[in-house]
Amino acid sequence: MDAETKDRILQAEMVLIGVGGEFEDRRLLKGNPSYEGLVQELEEKGLLFCLPLRLRRMQEQAGSRALEALKEAAGLVQGRNYFVIGTCAGGILEEAGFDRGRLVMPCGSLEKKQCPMGCPGGLGEISGRERAALMAGKEISLGLCPECGRELVLNNIFQEKYDERGYREDWARYTNWLKGTLNKRLCILELGVGMEYPGVIRWPFETAAFYNQKAFLVRVHEKLYQLPENLKGRGRGIGRNAVDWMLGRD
Ligand SMILES: [Zn+2]
Repeated sequence: MDAETKDRILQAEMVLIGVGGEFEDRRLLKGNPSYEGLVQELEEKGLLFCLPLRLRRMQEQAGSRALEALKEAAGLVQGRNYFVIGTCAGGILEEAGFDRGRLVMPCGSLEKKQCPMGCPGGLGEISGRERAALMAGKEISLGLCPECGRELVLNNIFQEKYDERGYREDWARYTNWLKGTLNKRLCILELGVGMEYPGVIRWPFETAAFYNQKAFLVRVHEKLYQLPENLKGRGRGIGRNAVDWMLGRD
């Protein structure tokens, strides 16, 4: 991260961080034979909800530095008034060291499980032991749905009947926090967010920056770093991979 951005973060009263697809390192996995065809394989087996977890394990095996980059970001905002919203559902955000009360993961996480049919009673917490087993690549049972008896699955967006109640409480905390940013010196750091779920981070961040005259948006992405016209002078687009940029010394 460059000195200018670091300074902006330190001078801000509130810091909003968005974490997107570049932290799943798909570029690192391209060409890996077990990655190519993975989606199709999981789809055929009805196990698409395992995708974020499988990607995470693959990226670690491939020597990813994404977790390191996120830890760097977490260290930078420690003890400050910040909030993080991220779309990575494979466990990396939970591990990075952000204060759990300042993190929302609307695409799901490794913290919750649900019924594949979306039965209300199926939503539950994943224990630390279960999570460790999942991360180690073990095929474990997450238990049965108390309502329909089906095997529970991970609570994420790749689930056909994604139970969005899994992140509802965090979401309420997040939107409340956002309301409190108006007229505050807000630094918005958008890291590696592409166009996969633009309505979750990208567009709301632009809106937040537009309506707050004291906000500044730093958008980092290898290709999609452009800022809209109406943010001229109140933002900066940086055309670099966000993981590299976080760990760079420039
Ligand atoms: Zn059920």
